[in-house]
Amino acid sequence: MSFQADQPIQGYIHSIETGGTVDGPGIRYVGFLQGCPLRCLYCHNPDSWKLRAGKIMNADDFFADVLRYKRFIRTGGLTLSGGEPLVQPEFVTRVFQLCRQEGIHTALDTSGIIPAQKVVSALEETDLVLLDIKSLDDGICRKLTGASNANTLGFLEWLEKNKKPVWIRHVVVPGYTDQIEDLEALGDFLQGYSVIQRVELLPFHQMALYKWENLRFPYLLKDLEPPDPALMEAGERLLRDRGIPV
Ligand code: SF4
Repeated sequence: MSFQADQPIQGYIHSIETGGTVDGPGIRYVGFLQGCPLRCLYCHNPDSWKLRAGKIMNADDFFADVLRYKRFIRTGGLTLSGGEPLVQPEFVTRVFQLCRQEGIHTALDTSGIIPAQKVVSALEETDLVLLDIKSLDDGICRKLTGASNANTLGFLEWLEKNKKPVWIRHVVVPGYTDQIEDLEALGDFLQGYSVIQRVELLPFHQMALYKWENLRFPYLLKDLEPPDPALMEAGERLLRDRGIPV
C-alpha cells in the first residue's frame, strides 16, 4: 500500500490518553481507535465497537498532536489501541510512518482478529505488537469473544516469521480462563516463540461495568469476582519458570 502526500487519511478516534503507563513500555501517548469485530464479554471499551463514531481526525493532524508530547513520551512512545486499531490499517500505517521519521517508538495493541497478511503495511511500521490472546481453547475463545482464536494464533505465527517483537496479554477470567492447567498450557505454548519479549497476565475486573450499563448492553459478567491474587502470582511464577519474562 502506498500513500500520496496530498491524500488525507482519516481515522475515527474513540479517545486519547497522553500519559499512559500500562500499554507498552515507558510513558506513552495512547490513541484508542473506533471499531472492533469482536464482542468480548469483559470488554473495557464497548463504546468503541462501532467504527463510524467518535471524533474524525486526519492522520497527519493526529500525529501533530502526538509530536506536542514528544519530550514527555521520550521514555515510551505512541500506542494505538481500541477497539481494534487494525480495522483502520491505513490510519495506523500513516501515523506510525510519521512516528518512525521522528524517532518515536510505536506499539500496536491488537486482538489479532484481522489476518496479519491483510495489514502488512501497518505491521511493517510497528515497533512492538501487544497481542491479546483470549484463550488457547477455541471453544472458550468463541464463548468469550464471539469468534475463533485461529486468526490470533495465525497472527502470532506471522510475527514470529517476520521477527516482530511482541508482548502477549492474557486476561484471566474466572470460570473461563482461570484454571492453572490453562495457564500452564499457555506457558508451554508461548515458550516456542522467540519474538515474545514479555507476557502480561491481567486479572478480570469490573471497571467497565458502568459503560455497559450506560450503553444498555446486556452484561453477562456482572456477578463475577476478580481472580484470586494467589492464582495470578502462580500464573506469573509458572511463566517465569519457563523462561518467559512477565
Ligand atoms: S478485542 Fe478489545 S475492544 Fe474488541 S471487544 Fe474485545 S476487549 Fe473489546
